[in-house]
Amino acid sequence: MARMRRLKPLKERAPDPMKTLEQYLNDAAVAHGHLCAGQVLGVRLAMLGLKKLGIEDPQGKDRKRLVTFVEIDRCATDAVMVVTGCRLGKRALKFRDWGKMAATFVDVETGKAVRVAARESSKSLAKSMHPNVTDKNQAQMLAYQVMTDDQMFQTQWVHVELPPEEFPGFKGERVVCEQCGEGINFRREVRRGAKVLCRACAGERYYEPIV
Ligand SMILES: [Zn+2]
Ligand SMILES: [Zn+2]
Repeated sequence: MARMRRLKPLKERAPDPMKTLEQYLNDAAVAHGHLCAGQVLGVRLAMLGLKKLGIEDPQGKDRKRLVTFVEIDRCATDAVMVVTGCRLGKRALKFRDWGKMAATFVDVETGKAVRVAARESSKSLAKSMHPNVTDKNQAQMLAYQVMTDDQMFQTQWVHVELPPEEFPGFKGERVVCEQCGEGINFRREVRRGAKVLCRACAGERYYEPIV
C-alpha cells in the first residue's frame, strides 16, 4: 500500500523520456532540414544502441552517461546526434572518418559499449519490399521504418578505451605550440625531443598555407 501511495497521479508523472520512432523522425527532419532515408536509418541505429545499453533518457538524467563514436559524416550522423544528444561541442561525439554506416555507443558509467552497423543487405531488402517505388530514397525511407532491428543492423559488444582527456568534462593543462604560438587543449600536443608542437607544426597539416 505504501508503495501505491508514492506513485504520483497519472497526469503528473513524467512522460517516457525515450521518444517513439515517429517523434524522433520529426525532430530529425527539423534538425537536418529534410526527412530522408538516412534520417530513418540514423534514428533507428541510435535507438537500438541506447536500447542495448539500457539508456532511457539520453537528453535528461542519462545525458552525461553517453559518448558516441560515429564512423560516417552523412545524413544519418545528424539523426544519431538528435537521438543521443551527443554533440561535437560537448566532446560527447567522436568522429572517425571511416565511411561506414556505423556508430559505437559508450556508457561511461558502466564501461559497456556497443557497436551498431547497418547491414549492407538492408538496401536490397528495402528495394524488394517496395518494388514499385522507383525512387530509391523513398523506398528505403518506407522500408527502414518497418524492418526489424535484425534485418537492418548487426550489433557487437565492444570495449572502448577512453582516457581521461576523451571525456566530455576533461579539463587539462593548456599548452602553447613552440613553433606557431597557438594554444592547444586536451593533450593534443606532440612532443619532439624537448619541443612542444601542435599537430599541424608536427607535420599533420590538412591545409597548406598560401604564402
Ligand atoms: Zn538527408
Ligand atoms: Zn604549431
